[in-house]
Amino acid sequence: MKTNYVLLVCALLGCTSFGAADRTTLLTKAFYNQGKLSDKIVLYFDKEPLCNQLPVRPNLKQTETKVEITLILPLVSIGSDAKNAVHKINKIKHDGYSISVSHVDLPVKGIRVLISYNPELVTLDYSTCDVISAQKGLVISFHDKRMLEKIKQASNPILRYASVDNRPKKKIVIDYGHGGSDNGTIGCHHLKEKDVTLQVGKKVVALLKEKGFDVSVTRDRDCFVALDQRTSAANNQEADLFVSIHANSGISKEAQGVETHWTPRSLLHKKIDAAAASCRDILELWYANLDKQTHLLAQCVHKNLIHTVHYQYADVIDRGTKKSNAQVLIGTDMPSALIEIGFLSHKAEAARLGENGYQTLIATGICKGIEAYCKQVPMS
Ligand SMILES: [Zn+2]
Repeated sequence: MKTNYVLLVCALLGCTSFGAADRTTLLTKAFYNQGKLSDKIVLYFDKEPLCNQLPVRPNLKQTETKVEITLILPLVSIGSDAKNAVHKINKIKHDGYSISVSHVDLPVKGIRVLISYNPELVTLDYSTCDVISAQKGLVISFHDKRMLEKIKQASNPILRYASVDNRPKKKIVIDYGHGGSDNGTIGCHHLKEKDVTLQVGKKVVALLKEKGFDVSVTRDRDCFVALDQRTSAANNQEADLFVSIHANSGISKEAQGVETHWTPRSLLHKKIDAAAASCRDILELWYANLDKQTHLLAQCVHKNLIHTVHYQYADVIDRGTKKSNAQVLIGTDMPSALIEIGFLSHKAEAARLGENGYQTLIATGICKGIEAYCKQVPMS
């Protein structure tokens, strides 16, 4: 028995010997992204945690309406900055699921994530992933089965998962990065990212409204809005697309240029729970469609932005589109892209980014890109 326990501990740790001091991993942030299709709980860590699903305890009766899954993350502790968010997650009240994240000493010291859900109402998938800024994420998604059923019956699964039928025009959410106590990067000439994103974002919104789009924003002034509040708002409005505006910063002062990030969902959702077998096909189809349209959105926005600024500034560097798990994009249920409009850490580029005329040029490029995407993905 004792030997078995030691073997179990070793299996959970994924090794036979380890240095405890340098293996401690911190849970740094926790987000609760809500949506009509999926709710996603995302835990972030300062390095990759081991994540083990415990075998179901024989004395625990899994029923048709309740399945329990226990994940053990050895040698992980909840950081002080994440405690409130974890507390909030532990208090989630939902008919379909509950989740509890807590410190445990057994079978090994670390954290336990206890997931309980009703397989008649939701289906579960979870996986770990790399995230921008060298963090690691654990994404736990609960998908609403009624919405999955709607997707199954739709001719275009991504366009028509929305419960809003016959929408006359596309609903666009523009996300001005950072805000309030979160300055983002502070660059040359004392420029704050949160101010530049607000200024450029407002121009994008005005241009889109002129074109007749239905646009909303995640913040309309200099205030702090958590990432999961931003994504939940977009998801609950069943937006057709989500574009997040940011400015970059590099370790090298020479780094400059424009890049656009998109998050392929197929990378995030590798482990679909066995109970969800009946939903697997439709989820995979949905992810594949979402990836295709998300990639198209990133390409349209990026190409048009580069094209537009190059008319007047041929020296702007095109850093291309990049596949990456941006934290704000992970939480969205619709095609989404994050644009890094330039480097505030580059003296000349920062000076331009602070100019009204250059900001208008960038906004025009983003607006053209969104229009180009909408033309290729018409309303159904
Ligand atoms: Zn940013």
